[in-house]
Amino acid sequence: MKAGKLAKAYRVDRGKHFRLKDFDPADTAGWQSKELAEEALIEHKDRTAALQAKLYAQDRWSLLLIFQAMDASGKDGAIKHVMSGVNPQGCQVYSFKQPSPQELQHDFLWRTTMCLPERGHIGIFNRSYYEEVLVVRVHPELLKNEQIPDELVTKHLWHERFEDIRCFEQHMARNGTVIRKFFLHLSKKEQKKRFLARLEEPEKNWKFSPGDVQERRCWDDYQNAYEDMIRNTATEGAPWYVVPADNKWFTRLVLSEVIVHTLEEMKLSYPKIDADKRKEVDAAKKQLLKE
Ligand code: ATP
Ligand code: MG
Repeated sequence: MKAGKLAKAYRVDRGKHFRLKDFDPADTAGWQSKELAEEALIEHKDRTAALQAKLYAQDRWSLLLIFQAMDASGKDGAIKHVMSGVNPQGCQVYSFKQPSPQELQHDFLWRTTMCLPERGHIGIFNRSYYEEVLVVRVHPELLKNEQIPDELVTKHLWHERFEDIRCFEQHMARNGTVIRKFFLHLSKKEQKKRFLARLEEPEKNWKFSPGDVQERRCWDDYQNAYEDMIRNTATEGAPWYVVPADNKWFTRLVLSEVIVHTLEEMKLSYPKIDADKRKEVDAAKKQLLKE
């Protein structure tokens, strides 16, 4: 498959019939190697950088990119790689870990809301409010920490959260924030390989956390939670991309293409200046040339 078509191939914008098993984590859409993908990746990065400059100057829209995945899916590396060409002044990355006591005193959208991108900016969420229907669903005992009144914790809770998220994302879209969501889809086999590399290679030891192996034991529960999350929150306005994650180079290629396409679809332009401003610009130019 040619670059240009990848963004469409992995997009899910109507979740109703979505099944995770229809997507292969090892898929490379016919691309053979990292070397061949390199050229497309560089081109995407250049185009992204040029479009980001317009996004910033225009100061109307913002772009929120959400990353969710199992451990060792290459989330951090992908974020680093894909955003390496953009101007850091117009881009913020936030990583969401276990909530702090203060965060637990608020509703589940509070902490991420504080970190939403300003107009003209790109915001990246490394994990997000989606953890509230993933890790919290797989480990429902975590809900106790959230101090929600008992009568509000019913069997409808997860579907209520899905609804709240859909409404929230629609609200953001209506106010000029374009949202794109990425699930880095890793196979269980590849996760094992990467965990073993973390244990065996001294320079990767720091990446290993014993909790990761614990969570792996809940693999199927997580896959079910991811599937249900995508079914219930993939919308035209805020689609999910199920990105194959067994080959890091391919993950990066797909991500970079989705980002560049999204920015292109936003039809960004440098702000036009009005007649008064034009007069000021001409006068300033004249003055400088006179020196
Ligand atoms: P890496 O392991 O690559 O450094 P990470 O994103 O996995 O990055 P960790 O510090 O290992 O970062 O893990 C963060 C943990 O916080 C995850 O296990 C995640 O599920 C958990 N977490 C995030 N948000 C919530 C939440 N709202 N409630 C409970 N746990 C959460
Ligand atoms: Mg981790």
